[in-house]
Amino acid sequence: MSLKKNKIVLATKNKDKIKEINKILGNCFEILTLKNFPEIIEDGKTLEENAIKKAKEIFEIAKITSIADDSGLEVDFLNGEPGVYSARFAGEGCRYEDNNKKLLKLLKNVPYKKRKAKFTTVVAIAFEDGSIKTTEGSVYGYITNEPKGTNGFGYDPVFYYPKLKKTFAQLTTKEKNKISHRAKAFKKAKKLLKTVTGNG
Ligand code: IMP
Repeated sequence: MSLKKNKIVLATKNKDKIKEINKILGNCFEILTLKNFPEIIEDGKTLEENAIKKAKEIFEIAKITSIADDSGLEVDFLNGEPGVYSARFAGEGCRYEDNNKKLLKLLKNVPYKKRKAKFTTVVAIAFEDGSIKTTEGSVYGYITNEPKGTNGFGYDPVFYYPKLKKTFAQLTTKEKNKISHRAKAFKKAKKLLKTVTGNG
């Protein structure tokens, strides 16, 4: 007899993220997404504010445990930019490539040692008892001089991870999920979810 998995709703419509998160949580939880995902304005000043806002708004609709994440890339040389504005760094409605182009242009001729960067993810969980909990994960690397690799999404082709001597876009989803900011934050979230739901 197979154990019925608890259902949780993922507050995103980003297919790339759903794929990564499913690999982390999918063995313990049935991951649902909303067909008609509402417009949520990410106007928080921090990743945490945005993640909490998304989890709360989705919980209001779904009425079951809802989980949201917000991520950003902070580049030392740019005093932490693009940070909370990572998705729209090159302007509202821009593509991943536009952001990468802008980033590489701003870092043109900047030496390797000064190209240090950090990805961070904050996960917020809105539980059925009305409580909200957050977890966080980060990973450090360097911004490359040119995009490399075709896997992943967003800034992955320009984010070099020295320990594996590859950009994130040169890693498989499995490899990325062992070390990424999102994986770290979601693994912590998984522990919390298991404690509260008794699942897994
Ligand atoms: P979000 O708020 O979590 O959707 O992330 C904001 C932006 O950060 C995304 O649009 C991507 O450009 C970038 N980003 C977030 N996570 C990743 C990642 O794992 N790899 C590359 N870029 C990412």
